Amino acid sequence: MTSVYELISEAAEREREMRPASAPTSPAARSHRRPIALRATGSSSCDSDLSQDPWQVDRAPGYGPGASTIDPVPEHSPRQGPLPERYTAASDDQLADWITAAREALGPRVQILGHFYQRDEIVQYADFVGDSFMLAQAAKSSPEAEAFVFCGVHFMAETADILSGRDQAVILPNLAAGCSMADMATIDQVEACWRDLMAALGTTAEDGRRTVIPVTYMNSSAAIKAFCGRNGGIVCTSSNARAVLEWAFERGQRVVFFPDQHLGRNTAKAMGIDEAEMPLWRPHLPLGGNTEQQVRDARVILWNGFCSVHKRFTVAQIERARAEYPDVRVIVHPECPASVVEAADGAGSTEYIRREIEHAAPGSVIAVGTEINLVNRLQQQRPDLTIFCLDPVVCPCSTMYRIHPAYLAWTLEALLDGSTPNRISVPDGVADDSRVALERMLAAKP
Ligand code: SF4
Repeated sequence: MTSVYELISEAAEREREMRPASAPTSPAARSHRRPIALRATGSSSCDSDLSQDPWQVDRAPGYGPGASTIDPVPEHSPRQGPLPERYTAASDDQLADWITAAREALGPRVQILGHFYQRDEIVQYADFVGDSFMLAQAAKSSPEAEAFVFCGVHFMAETADILSGRDQAVILPNLAAGCSMADMATIDQVEACWRDLMAALGTTAEDGRRTVIPVTYMNSSAAIKAFCGRNGGIVCTSSNARAVLEWAFERGQRVVFFPDQHLGRNTAKAMGIDEAEMPLWRPHLPLGGNTEQQVRDARVILWNGFCSVHKRFTVAQIERARAEYPDVRVIVHPECPASVVEAADGAGSTEYIRREIEHAAPGSVIAVGTEINLVNRLQQQRPDLTIFCLDPVVCPCSTMYRIHPAYLAWTLEALLDGSTPNRISVPDGVADDSRVALERMLAAKP
């Protein structure tokens, strides 16, 4: 069987071929700290605090301005310490010069990984741009690098650490860059859920399959990926969720899906599973707020988590887009609610959205239901198309947004000085069990 590392290397090689080794520095992106580019027809930003510097936001409770501002941050979440004044007081041009100089001095020893949802002021410096798994693959396929500066959020840096070499450091420039969705399922809650399910259903069904297979979306902590690895479960991405659920149903009667209820529901519905067979698991209630019969009748038990960015999209927005542009094609991410996915013309992962736009005929009008930084970038790449975000209120992923150029400059200069700040290290046992669940995912394809 092809090993996980061979599969990862092949995928990363394809990704390398698709993207330049280093994106050029854009003077436009250097010139300001504009929080986000407003769409021409966009009326406002979702939170005026978006114009604040992140070190001000980091001191406040909650995730900060943006789509996830109202979600509670778990107590155990790491907090970022104060940045030296050299960085907080620096101008945009100074920061750009320091980042550029440090990158040049560090050379291939340090690779910068930038998520699709990251702001342009950061993406311009990235050696690789991609979704969370593509970036982890990039880390795996760069054995020459001593460190990866991961411009994304915490769970993504954990996955990169799991897949990269033991001696390679993965660094998150701002420790406060978590993910509100991933934080909606803690390992303690997941283990309590599992105990309840095992007590209600037992471990093995009469047909010899397991009673429940745990499936976790990539957007979850390493501890939950490891839990799935230890308990016959698997990881999925938004690209392969259906193949993963098919894998799971070959081995189990039902699935418990962490932490995104929408990806779980949308995938299961596309497979013909009735919504009545998808109870929601609310982690603070006995049996997740369900009766034992509901759990027995379930095909997919959905954890009560969601992405604060994608849950903002609505059917009314799609109707408005269709009224304004009768020929519009609407494409959305499967983290959107089921009603939105059903009203759209297509739904798929970030990579699916990127490819749809890449292959769209000139002059097409496309409304996109995903994070605004990505939508704006896609519009810049295809000026011959009319591309806009379904949500007229500009609202980025607020946790991703915490990676500000000042943190990148601080991180790179610290590496140049020989220290390794904000290293994300997954303990060996957790990494080993997570790798089991990731290997199963790669074997499940596509
Ligand atoms: S866009 Fe949603 S799922 Fe992705 S990092 Fe932000 S909060 Fe998490």
